[in-house]
Amino acid sequence: MNNVIKIMGVAVNNTTLVDAVKTVEKALENNNQMSIYTPNTEIVMEARSDNTLCNMINRGDLIIPDGVGLIYASKIKKKPLKERVTGVDLSTKLLSLCDKKGYSLYILGGKEGTAQRAVDNIMKKYTNIKIAGIHNGYFKGTHIGYEGHDEEKAVIEDINNSGAEVLFVCLGAPKQELWIDKNRDKLNCKVMIGNGGTVDILAGDVKRAPLIYQKLGLEWLHRLIKQPSRIKRQMALPKFVLLLLFSREKLVE
Ligand code: UDP
Repeated sequence: MNNVIKIMGVAVNNTTLVDAVKTVEKALENNNQMSIYTPNTEIVMEARSDNTLCNMINRGDLIIPDGVGLIYASKIKKKPLKERVTGVDLSTKLLSLCDKKGYSLYILGGKEGTAQRAVDNIMKKYTNIKIAGIHNGYFKGTHIGYEGHDEEKAVIEDINNSGAEVLFVCLGAPKQELWIDKNRDKLNCKVMIGNGGTVDILAGDVKRAPLIYQKLGLEWLHRLIKQPSRIKRQMALPKFVLLLLFSREKLVE
């Protein structure tokens, strides 16, 4: 992978949204398979104490810095990332690409009914898009400890039979990374992206933070106000910053 920095062991491509889209477009044109991961601060902190997870993410073909904390880290440690590239933004660009170039999309994940609502909204906006299929994320599969279960085999068969070229895997992190890592060889689709709550946003069930929060890098604050129960998970951010400022370890390389 080109132009990579490592943050607490997790590889991240130093790319922009525009270049990330070009990379994906090239993979589709050349018929190459590509996995895309979208780590944020919480996942990097989890991967710091979980080598298996860290190695799994690092096997991704394109790893984009989804979290604003990663941008701060890269700047504090003088290896500045060009910009934050979120999974939602890249997914939106992929929808446009599918719409323009005729690539077909399969959405895996979310509660029963969520992917259908997402598809209804997508089709209103992207009138030429080919939807190959959908499936909820609550089947027995690798992501919840049932690797190779019949239910998982049926989902993989459905994705392959659908002829999908682009696959959104919205199972939440790190379930989606695990699912992609273990199953990519069995899948015929070209591009697969672990894009967490994107299905909820596309369905209109979850609203993205207003632009001002996005611009100020404060989406985490907006999410915390809306879902205070996330406080435990979000403590990863201050812990991450403290580590960066006071640890003697080489945390960014
Ligand atoms: N999800 C799923 N299967 C699971 C767990 C989660 O399909 O076994 C879906 C969940 O319904 C939601 C999405 O994954 O649509 C993101 O979940 P969450 O908010 O927990 O993940 P995060 O955004 O924190 O990565």
